Amino acid sequence: MQLSTIASLIGARQTGHTDIDINWLLTDSRSLCFPESTLFFAIRTQRGDGHRYIQDLYSRGVRAFVVQDVPQFTATAGECVFLQVENSLVALQRLAERKREEYDIPVIGITGSNGKTTVKEWLYQMLSPDMTVTRSPRSYNSQIGVPLSVWGLWEKSQIGIFEAAISQPGEMEALERIIQPTIGVFTGLGAAHQENFRSMEQKRQEKMKLFSHCKTVFVPTPGLSALEADRDLCRQVCRHLGMPDDVIEQRLSQLEPIAMRLEVKQGRHGCMIINDSYNSDLNSLGIAMDFMNRRPDRADRQRVLILSDILQSGVPPTMFYEHVAQLVQMRGVECLIGIGPSISAHAACFDQLQAQCQFYPSTDAYLHSQSFATLRDSVVLIKGARNFHFEKITQALEQKVHETILEVNLGAVVDNLNYYRSFLNPDTKIICMVKADAYGAGAVEVSKTLQSQTQVGYLAVAVADEGALLRSNGITKPIMIMNPEMTSFDTLFEYNLEPEVYSFRILDALVRAAEHAGITGMPIHIKLDTGMHRLGFDPETQMPQLIDRLQHQTALVPRSVFSHFVGSDSDTFDQFSALQYRRYLIGADALQEAFPHHILRHMDNSAGIEHFPDRQMDMVRLGLGLYGIDPRNNAIINNVSTLKTTILQIHDVKAGETVGYSRRGKLTRDSRIAAIPIGYADGWDRLFGNGNAYALVNGQKAPYVGNICMDVCMIDVTDIPCQEGDQVVLFGDQLSPSILARTVNTIPYEILTSVSHRVKRIYYHE
Ligand SMILES: *Cc1c(COP(=O)(O)O)cnc(C)c1O
Repeated sequence: MQLSTIASLIGARQTGHTDIDINWLLTDSRSLCFPESTLFFAIRTQRGDGHRYIQDLYSRGVRAFVVQDVPQFTATAGECVFLQVENSLVALQRLAERKREEYDIPVIGITGSNGKTTVKEWLYQMLSPDMTVTRSPRSYNSQIGVPLSVWGLWEKSQIGIFEAAISQPGEMEALERIIQPTIGVFTGLGAAHQENFRSMEQKRQEKMKLFSHCKTVFVPTPGLSALEADRDLCRQVCRHLGMPDDVIEQRLSQLEPIAMRLEVKQGRHGCMIINDSYNSDLNSLGIAMDFMNRRPDRADRQRVLILSDILQSGVPPTMFYEHVAQLVQMRGVECLIGIGPSISAHAACFDQLQAQCQFYPSTDAYLHSQSFATLRDSVVLIKGARNFHFEKITQALEQKVHETILEVNLGAVVDNLNYYRSFLNPDTKIICMVKADAYGAGAVEVSKTLQSQTQVGYLAVAVADEGALLRSNGITKPIMIMNPEMTSFDTLFEYNLEPEVYSFRILDALVRAAEHAGITGMPIHIKLDTGMHRLGFDPETQMPQLIDRLQHQTALVPRSVFSHFVGSDSDTFDQFSALQYRRYLIGADALQEAFPHHILRHMDNSAGIEHFPDRQMDMVRLGLGLYGIDPRNNAIINNVSTLKTTILQIHDVKAGETVGYSRRGKLTRDSRIAAIPIGYADGWDRLFGNGNAYALVNGQKAPYVGNICMDVCMIDVTDIPCQEGDQVVLFGDQLSPSILARTVNTIPYEILTSVSHRVKRIYYHE
């Protein structure tokens, strides 16, 4: 579409006269691919301002911008075009509405709490053999995602499938105007994202607004399981579109579960594997490559893309592979492995690339190649259509694994961050606690995910070595060290880490070391003891001496002053919390008065953010909540970590026999006993044994029998249909660490942080 056309469609005031043919709309500057034909929408949200990225995008070749304010530097940027509007997001939505109106085709609009993406993808799989389908990439279903999805309509589109999600009242009207669905699909209602709705009924009514102009709306037949309900919806829609029943059933039988995840795994020989088993089209390929690109990583690792033939109906293969080639170039891929007859036949499309390109007729041919055998020190993005069975490549690249793994959902970490952000003012900064290896989840990957989030001001760890590890893995955010050891000062200096200072002893030693190293102006964080009586200066007696000491040196500068609530997780301590806060203010005010610069203030931890949002001050410290557990009621917010294993062996054991050491597991009935590879050396508490706790096998409770051993333990699966090799969940969504904690009289923090390092962590994004 011509830029001048867009300008009139969205009613913008245009500065600059060049006309440009626009193919791509961009709202996130990091995802830039094709600068010459991109139109950037500078959107202001509570969390950020797209206008800040205009100059950077200009230097990367973008020439067309939708803005609310025309930036200053334009005097020298003659060839730039700015479309000035009152609200860039509204303009983006209006443009998508106009685009949609050009298409007189059936459009399916999907909303509901769960299963939107699955239903969308399954419908796509069922319909795409017969028609050209345009659909939302991944889960692009927000106020920004929906217009970007609808923009994907083009002259060959015969049907559109778009999903819509809302998080508060008043949002669906805009999405309805953009999607203008002719057919509605409602996947059902759940408890997710309830915080902004008064009631389930209100949420239902808001969601239903998507269908206000639909002639037909499908809902799942009552009484079906979630999986069956999704299939049922697909069946109903296909029947409505006139697909014969036998074809429907045949295609339904071939559907496979949709993996909405980008999995990140450590592979052998220094490789990191990003596995995207998701449907391969250009959009999702772009997203996956973007993901690969955003991981700051060791500089010596090369970027490798392994890509199969991709069939996209309606698009000529040459055009498609040329686009892939452009993406490969833009994303700095150093090596492309193309697998399949079609991509091999179009090798010429990749001729001009700097990347090294190799082509193989089949997955097996590649697996047997020299190139595969010598793959080393690479970040490998694996993306293939299902019939190429790329899982063979992933399996071959994976390290030999201990069969117990901790699966970490990095997307849920962000969801939890957003949950806590909803209690905060937009300019309150968040200190994300990633100590104790991010409460067991893995500090490096969690920090990589967090550091690109706005409002995250700091990462915090306990000791200097944890901070150094983050720095060596490309983390650039400010890092706070909560418990600096006297012997670690050089590490602090070398890696630019900011220590907490809680006593004169450590203050004096730090000043001396910093002066010796010739350091000035190093930020430190002053801790006040307001009632925990653990670490900290006494705000009522020690401030004058502390101020005096700080004012007579230049090595250190107080950057923040903070304290810690003893009991923000329970109403019982509200009065004491108020007392702590008053004591804190005495100390913080005294310190502030002695210095001309603003000294940041923080006190709330996870429970405090929820319970005392009025005490958020400049910053808050978010710990347990980030990992999905609400410390005030132990409920799971968005589950982050799942500890899983598999059954090694099953024994039929007669009543009267015993299981395990010291004959503690006495059987009173004939039993089936499964052995699983986790024990106290993995951090699995011995007190779980002898029936005190249970694991989940195929969703059912299997109590621990007898004593937990060092590397193995036994569970009772007498009543559970299962076999060797089946998966066992030790904790996760359906079995919260809080439940386990209660059985052994501890807190979920201890359960999470006890999972030992020999348990492999696997990361994915959902
Ligand atoms: C660990 C820690 C936190 C985070 O506490 P959560 O209860 O996990 O939110 C906050 N402040 C300090 C000083 C901490 O050590």
